[in-house]
Amino acid sequence: MTHAHLIILGSGAAGCTAAIYAARAGLAPLMIRGNQPGGQLTITTDVENYPGFAETIQGPWLMEQMEAQAKHCGATIVGDHIVQADLTAKTLVGMGGDTYTFDALIVATGASAKWLGLESEKTYNGRGVSACATCDGAFYRNREVAVVGGGNTALEEALYLANIAKHVTIIHRRDHFRGEKVLQDRVLAHPKISVIWDHVVADILGDPHPMTGGVTGLRLAHASTGVTRDIAIHGLFVAIGHQPNTKLFAGQLDMDATGYLVVEKGTVFALRDGQRVPGILAAGDVADPLYRQAVTAAGMGCMAALDANRWLESQHI
Ligand code: FAD
Ligand code: NAP
Repeated sequence: MTHAHLIILGSGAAGCTAAIYAARAGLAPLMIRGNQPGGQLTITTDVENYPGFAETIQGPWLMEQMEAQAKHCGATIVGDHIVQADLTAKTLVGMGGDTYTFDALIVATGASAKWLGLESEKTYNGRGVSACATCDGAFYRNREVAVVGGGNTALEEALYLANIAKHVTIIHRRDHFRGEKVLQDRVLAHPKISVIWDHVVADILGDPHPMTGGVTGLRLAHASTGVTRDIAIHGLFVAIGHQPNTKLFAGQLDMDATGYLVVEKGTVFALRDGQRVPGILAAGDVADPLYRQAVTAAGMGCMAALDANRWLESQHI
């Protein structure tokens, strides 16, 4: 069993920033990296809006730097993924059965990609269906691919794939994008990207043979009329948003209707039945249904470390 004054769950922008601030405050934090070390920015390429860098930087590089900074400041970093949490007993259990106890906990478990929920999506997952263009895009050199979604992720995935694939078709359920204007402009002007508006993916078509099969097309349905049409593609990239990683805390912390942790107004203390939970804080995408940016996650990580420090001091722990 490992005991730490402060445990930080997650190693994305929120977790790393919390670790930097907590280590500098002398809290000797233990940061548990989880199964996606560095978090969501490790599955993207260009980052143009994280302040401090005049030139475009790479997401994985930024996260390497954040973790190195946390380590340099004195945080201890553990490669484990937590599968059980008992906030009353202040105990966490890792994948291999290791247990961790804490005085204070910062939950910075972020969010994971959402899926369409089609049976065929499961059949072809990893064999033509992906939620990460930077991970799997290279398999589709000079092939036809589609991206579903209309947010920043979908637009960025399409632009990334356009450098590799023969052609990229974006399928969006509405007649306009939700993503930033600068990305919309780039997508709409790109000669290798086209958009099918007002359609949803009704089914993924292909040959399900486990060795030789794969995706051959999509059945699309018009969002209002339901009329279907088929298009030929080899790869589908699902980019329809993210869901917060909060299952561990079901019944233990307050969540909104979509599963995001709810924090106390003006602080980042987590709540249970509307009341502050002593020593439990939440930072980053896991508690942010609105902004979900690297810089806001980092800002909340900073707030969580400062709130944790004040709370630990107030308890004389
Ligand atoms: P995450 O980055 O989601 O990190 C969560 C961490 O928690 C991970 O380390 C994971 O391993 C860990 N974890 C989860 N569950 C457990 C568990 N049970 N036990 C232990 N650890 C656990 N934002 C920008 O500002 N600019 C961009 O250009 C940009 N590009 C993006 C591109 C893509 C493709 C995506 C998906 C997102 C992008 N974002 C961008 C959003 C940005 O990545 C997020 O806002 C940011 O990563 C949130 O940081 P976080 O620390 O809250 O969570
Ligand atoms: P998002 O902004 O929530 O967008 C999800 C998109 O998928 C929306 O267009 C939505 O359609 C569509 N969608 C949702 N469910 C669907 C379904 N079942 N079928 C078909 N379409 C569906 O998610 P995101 O693009 O992943 O972005 C998440 C956060 O990360 C955002 O805050 C974003 O700004 C941030 N991010 C930032 C950058 C950047 O700064 N460069 C890059 C990537 C992500 P509707 O529009 O109809 O709702």
